Amino acid sequence: MLLLREALIKFMEEKMDDLRIIQSHSPNFDNRTLPISLLILHYTGMKTAKEALDKLCSVKSKVSSHYLVFENGEIHHLVPDHKRAWHAGVSSWRGEKNINSCSIGIEIVNCGHNYLNLDGELPRYPKKQMNAVIALSKKIIDQHGQLEFLGHSDIAPSRKKDPGEHFPWQYMASQGIGKWPIVKTNDRRVLFELNDRDRGISIVQQGLAKLGYSAYITGVMDQNTVDIILAVQRRYRQDQVDGILDIMTMEIIKSLLEI
Ligand SMILES: [Zn+2]
Repeated sequence: MLLLREALIKFMEEKMDDLRIIQSHSPNFDNRTLPISLLILHYTGMKTAKEALDKLCSVKSKVSSHYLVFENGEIHHLVPDHKRAWHAGVSSWRGEKNINSCSIGIEIVNCGHNYLNLDGELPRYPKKQMNAVIALSKKIIDQHGQLEFLGHSDIAPSRKKDPGEHFPWQYMASQGIGKWPIVKTNDRRVLFELNDRDRGISIVQQGLAKLGYSAYITGVMDQNTVDIILAVQRRYRQDQVDGILDIMTMEIIKSLLEI
């Protein structure tokens, strides 16, 4: 019996290992005015985890997130979920601009585009860290119901690139976190690029707006539209992020509208 109990405890410890939550404190929050409907993923874009933790907890910085996930999978809970953390900045989704009020923000320790590896590649997200993000996301869904998972680049495509085209969105989707389009083509032939004008562009802009992006129906491949195409590619077509609307990117948008 004793052996069985010990084995069970060991098993539980291993399971819990994915979700080591440390209660920390950030003073940077206020009250929500909207129910929680979104979960926003960020990278910290700083050199070290400590630097990021210090910034998110400093009164002066006026920024915060609800959670910070270290590379080793350790999670710091900085702002209570029912409070409004300050992570989104100027942003928009489905016409809502007060994203901080309706979202939970997770910062993931990663240098991102600010500090590339020596080989010029983006720094990868370790598996331990990803497993912690997935376990945390599931815990948040258990507590708050189904949420829409977005990157900072989805809600602020002209300003933000995080969590970046190196973030494993497809793996996340395979674990039930976020949606993934079904696309059968790899055709990269160009349909529209910057400054093109066409009725077809209006239709794509309508589709992007329907998905939630802050797209305006102008019929022109303006910079705002290019930035949104970049955000779509950063998430769903990571091997070619160029802001050009090609056949494959169009198919991705079509599929997302059908999910
Ligand atoms: Zn961010």
